[in-house]
Amino acid sequence: MDSNQHTRVAVTVVADTAKQMKARMEEAARTGADLAELRLDYLRDLTEHDVRDLVAGRPCPVIVTVRAAWEGGRFGGKEADRLHLLKTAAQAGAEHIDLEYVTWRDNRDSCKHLLQACRKDGRPTRLILSQHDFKRTPGNLDAMLAEMAASDADVIKLATQARHINDSLRMLEALRCTNKPAIGLCMGASGVMTRVLAGKAGAYLTYCCLEAGEEAAPGQVPAGDMLGMYRFRQITDTTAVLGVVGCPVAHSMSPALHNAAYEELGIDAVYLPFEVAEGEGSFNRFLGAILAAGWLNVRGLSVTIPHKIAALKQADEVEPLTAKIGAANTLVLHEDGRIEAYNTDYAAAMQALCEGAGLRPEDLAGKNVAVLGAGGVSRAVVAGLTDAGCRVTLCNRTLARAQELAEEFGCQVEEWENRGRLRPDILVNCTSLGMWPNQYETPMPREALQPETIVFDTVYNPPETRLLLHAAAKKCRLVDGVAMFVHQGALQMQHWFGRSGAHGRMRQIVLDRMRRHQ
Ligand code: NAP
Repeated sequence: MDSNQHTRVAVTVVADTAKQMKARMEEAARTGADLAELRLDYLRDLTEHDVRDLVAGRPCPVIVTVRAAWEGGRFGGKEADRLHLLKTAAQAGAEHIDLEYVTWRDNRDSCKHLLQACRKDGRPTRLILSQHDFKRTPGNLDAMLAEMAASDADVIKLATQARHINDSLRMLEALRCTNKPAIGLCMGASGVMTRVLAGKAGAYLTYCCLEAGEEAAPGQVPAGDMLGMYRFRQITDTTAVLGVVGCPVAHSMSPALHNAAYEELGIDAVYLPFEVAEGEGSFNRFLGAILAAGWLNVRGLSVTIPHKIAALKQADEVEPLTAKIGAANTLVLHEDGRIEAYNTDYAAAMQALCEGAGLRPEDLAGKNVAVLGAGGVSRAVVAGLTDAGCRVTLCNRTLARAQELAEEFGCQVEEWENRGRLRPDILVNCTSLGMWPNQYETPMPREALQPETIVFDTVYNPPETRLLLHAAAKKCRLVDGVAMFVHQGALQMQHWFGRSGAHGRMRQIVLDRMRRHQ
């Protein structure tokens, strides 16, 4: 398939009453989706009249589903009643009805009337035969889809639980090989790629939820994000795929940041969250699988906790300062299989610092800098600062970690309890103190802050941390973590596409998302 223009977007609508469902169905149509899937099994009292009424009043084409409790749904009534409700939907003109494949396979006689109702008249109802596995993704997806394709279905649907992200890759691969219109998706955080990249695999449709928190299946993406942030309809065979690899990554701001920049700069690319379970073997399996799936066109990865060291080990070429830091947050994947590794955190921190404080990079030489924290971000920041010629003093709750880092990069160390006595030109917070939901914490006593000190807080959620608020009151010069976050994203784009920009849009998107999610 050439592009997503053939892969429909369906919004799953759930509600307690028929009246609410009608209203939600209208909202679903307003998102710009092609279809609304009416999960009638969610209705508290479901009558034949409701079915007719809902189908007659549909503002867009629909899929009618009355999912049985034994298949993960909520309908606990008799099978004969369920089939009758589906038949009513078909007779009322629903564009699709969804029936469990097992029901069709084991009770063909009782499904006959349903099939007849679907095939009647000029505008037939398409029969979706579906199968779900809420525990795992079986090893024989091709065989399962082939068996289902041999049925009376117009469309086949397979939904399984992803235990590892490679299950999602297998699902997409299996979809590409079906000879019947097919839907294949993996549930769970590691399954997001099967939903967003459904068009690349030639799927019949992808399912979304109406809003975050209304997922009828785990991992469903809100329709607004699918059509807006991911620009689902613009994804084609040639669209480059990028993403953030980590665990967990469901709440990462990076997809919003990158996709907004691609849209503004006209870059044909989409950026996803890739939830890859912990462990070096797990990361390596994922990397191997995406390199083998050339058709997906994965061109680059952002790497976050816990895979930064594994990522570095897999690279063929490592930028020298990245090697010294010992962790990569950016991989460039070349078509010939070559992998380059970078760490954009240190350069982003230096850019944010210079820009925010009105300094040139050469002005940093000789400055006294106090760095609070000795974790991953401190490592990158200390590498950048010492490279720029700063005199760095490290201060960390766990003294031994500070000493280790200081030895490696030639810094001084001060005990955590004494941090209030430091009088640096620049203070950098690289601890997680002050980060949401502990936004009332601060790593530095207010009274220790001196006017004119440059205070840089790498924490970006919230953007105005307690430390920065105190520093503003003391007339310090401020640099926030959002600036660093935006710069590291822009630097990644530079590595992947040879260009970047849209800093203002990226900053705005991050601020908007944080405001909405708090
Ligand atoms: P990390 O490796 O887990 O390090 C956390 C650091 O915070 C350690 O030094 C730890 O001290 C210290 N810490 C944690 N809780 C503390 C407490 N209650 N009191 C004192 N110190 C405490 O994390 P990381 O990857 O370096 O990330 C640190 C922060 O950087 C994150 O929270 C995030 O907000 C920020 N960040 C910003 C960006 C950006 O682009 N702006 C990017 C990534 C991260 P111990 O060694 O004693 O445990």
